[in-house]
Amino acid sequence: MAENFRGRKGIIIGGGASGLMAAITAAEQGAAVTVIEHTARPGKKILSTGNGKCNLTNLYMDPSFYRSDEKGFWGTAIRNFPPKAAVAFFRNLGVLTMDRGGYVYPMSGQAQTVLDALLRGAKRAGVKIVTGCEVEKAGRKKEHFEVTTNLGTFTGDFLILACGSKAAKATGSDGSGYELAKQFGHRIIKPLPALVQLRCEGDLLPKASGVRVDALVSIQTADGKTAAKDRGELQITDYGISGIPVFQVSRYAAKLLDQKKKVLASLNFLPDLDETKVRYLLREQREVLSGETAEDFLSGIFNKKLASVLLKAAKIQTDKKAGLLTSEELERLGATIREFKIPVKETNPFEQAQICTGGVDTAEIEAETMQSKRVPGLYIVGELLDVDGICGGYNLQWAWSSGYAAGCHAAAGIVPGYLKNSRAAGKTMTFSGAEGNRTQGKQERKKHTYDPDQSAHTSRGPRGRGHKEKGGKTSKSR
Ligand SMILES: Cc1cc2nc3c(=O)[nH]c(=O)nc-3n(C[C@H](O)[C@H](O)[C@H](O)COP(=O)(O)OP(=O)(O)OC[C@H]3O[C@@H](n4cnc5c(N)ncnc54)[C@H](O)[C@@H]3O)c2cc1C
Repeated sequence: MAENFRGRKGIIIGGGASGLMAAITAAEQGAAVTVIEHTARPGKKILSTGNGKCNLTNLYMDPSFYRSDEKGFWGTAIRNFPPKAAVAFFRNLGVLTMDRGGYVYPMSGQAQTVLDALLRGAKRAGVKIVTGCEVEKAGRKKEHFEVTTNLGTFTGDFLILACGSKAAKATGSDGSGYELAKQFGHRIIKPLPALVQLRCEGDLLPKASGVRVDALVSIQTADGKTAAKDRGELQITDYGISGIPVFQVSRYAAKLLDQKKKVLASLNFLPDLDETKVRYLLREQREVLSGETAEDFLSGIFNKKLASVLLKAAKIQTDKKAGLLTSEELERLGATIREFKIPVKETNPFEQAQICTGGVDTAEIEAETMQSKRVPGLYIVGELLDVDGICGGYNLQWAWSSGYAAGCHAAAGIVPGYLKNSRAAGKTMTFSGAEGNRTQGKQERKKHTYDPDQSAHTSRGPRGRGHKEKGGKTSKSR
């Protein structure tokens, strides 16, 4: 540890995932750390993660799983504190983890275990957590930072902003972090809801509300260009569409809608079959069920409610005899099944979003340390930054990696690789979850694809493949 870093005093605003990680790391490096948390309990959001089970990281890492206006910003922090470091870190705090096809959960199946471990780690390292503490003003006075609150004034040699985004406000992240960052001169890229449901126009699809179906969901602009696509279990709701594939593409829809562009969701309900195979399948089905109604003919393939919606969308009478369906009608039906297009009105609001896209512009942040390029000694971490990950443990991983980078550098002026230097090195074993889930996880990941023309993100599926960035440069998987 450098001499001038000895005995540093630090303040962290925000006691969530990234703030607690930064606090533990900084305190373990010898700093006296105070966490200021405005709610009554730190880490509330962690409790709702992974449906209460906390998908705390993912062993399958690919650069295309993160997005930011500044391409590749996240890579250094993730390399220095990779998913295996998160596993080792929590093991060192007494948490065994379970690997379900790469998706890592605490073995207890309870998010509470993760939060308890973080609070234990903070206590062990001597971190002071002040709850119910409302920040009124934060600024830099000569060599130190001063934070004025309802509970008095705190001073420190460094200040870490770890306030989260505007998503799921009920958990404490109310967007006030953006205002604090602005006070220090930082630019904010407009935060928008992400990993969120999409509200659509029209009253036909809602007739299949409640149906869950494997589908390929594409976000398209009016000119037919695909901005993003993802495959998985689509959930049809009374207001639009939900489910993991919708969450994965929602940030692209949110950005396009914010630019006042017309956005369509194109749903492919038979994503494994090309146009010819769908044609063949429908003709065969017509033969098999020629004496039945069109509705029954399609119900052998789809849920009855969805079958009826598809027939109506293709302008085919549901009670028409299947054997009388013309080739033209089958063509129309095939096209509808493969490209069911609905205009997207809006995303669900921030309250329902898991995360935000946007945040503090990372061009003003050092990628290795999370230190502000504007204000030395100020660090910004976690979701408050313009970095958003796909579903699957990637957002918590970002909170751990960025919190760790800031904690190390703020307290000790170093950027160590966690697995090389920590006493937890080697404790990277995870236990296996059910085989079914392992397979499902791998299959799902292969299906993430993002159109490079629109987003510069192309996930190449299998582990270890290269990632193509805009302009054709290929970087190695991290
Ligand atoms: C329902 C749900 C499920 C999710 N599931 C997963 C999952 O399984 N896996 C995954 O990787 N990600 C998941 N996420 C996303 C993940 O939880 C977040 O990305 C992550 O918690 C962000 O960490 P953070 O520290 O940046 O912010 P937060 O965890 O939001 O913490 C911010 C903290 O700062 C406090 N704060 C805010 N402003 C102030 C202020 N002005 N003064 C003092 N304190 C302040 C807040 O009260 C809060 O405690 C989920 C999110 C939601 C909402």
